[in-house]
Amino acid sequence: MDTVGRIRKLGFRKWYERQLIESHLYLVTCFLGIILVASSIEIYSRREGLTGLLITLAIGLGGMAAAMLGWERYKRIMMVAEHIGDHATCSDCNTYARFDVVDAGRALHQEPVDIADPNEVWLKVHCRKCGHDWTI
Ligand SMILES: [Zn+2]
Repeated sequence: MDTVGRIRKLGFRKWYERQLIESHLYLVTCFLGIILVASSIEIYSRREGLTGLLITLAIGLGGMAAAMLGWERYKRIMMVAEHIGDHATCSDCNTYARFDVVDAGRALHQEPVDIADPNEVWLKVHCRKCGHDWTI
């Protein structure tokens, strides 16, 4: 399911909560990756033959990939969730996070959200309390 679909299904609050959890799992993945890289350097210093070197290299590269992927996903999820969260209050009646999604940019029809083009990161919403429409 894409991002808009998940916001519609869960409602903004639950979706936001899950984004925070998910992003922190990616942050943990990032830290584990860094630990793997550090371990591989530690193991490498013992110099135990070609097999040892290859295993060390594999651990180091795997760790680096996990760290980079984890960080990239963490950053991306937080940017989108924070952006929507910052604009989730209706400007007419001041109600927080009680809206229906009317329409969304191309980026939000993807999972994970593609933030390469900021012009596609938008959400058109409709306040459930007063009916005011605005774009996030
Ligand atoms: Zn309102």
